[in-house]
Amino acid sequence: MDVEATSVVQVLLNEKSIICSNCKSLILKPNKAQLVNTEIFLPHIDIKKSIGDHTEKNIGENITQFWRVKSSDIYIFENIGFTHSIPSSNSPFKYLACADCEIGPLGVDNLSPLTNNNNTDDQNSFRFFIACSRVSLL
Ligand SMILES: [Zn+2]
Repeated sequence: MDVEATSVVQVLLNEKSIICSNCKSLILKPNKAQLVNTEIFLPHIDIKKSIGDHTEKNIGENITQFWRVKSSDIYIFENIGFTHSIPSSNSPFKYLACADCEIGPLGVDNLSPLTNNNNTDDQNSFRFFIACSRVSLL
């Protein structure tokens, strides 16, 4: 999980609510996330299947545009689900999924910032990345 190469496209916040593309469940209210370019590998979307079961690492795609959530507090979300921690060569992380229909992965929860500090102004405190191509705006 390498999010250090993250580059901010511009100070562009989500003007609309981020919702689940599948069931339209509200995930994040407006102005809670920033559009960034960073490359993160995600397994392909799988509906109604435990997304923690993706063991074949090559079945997926590199996604390059994400909504980077401005807070490291999980309560910034309206609805979000998490997988169990995925072992990684760098740091453990979780996948984000829709809390209602369980479609996912929609993004990642990079756990490593938790081991740093809680300074939300710190670049390292960003932990939630939602794939732009896997959610809708309303
Ligand atoms: Zn959903």
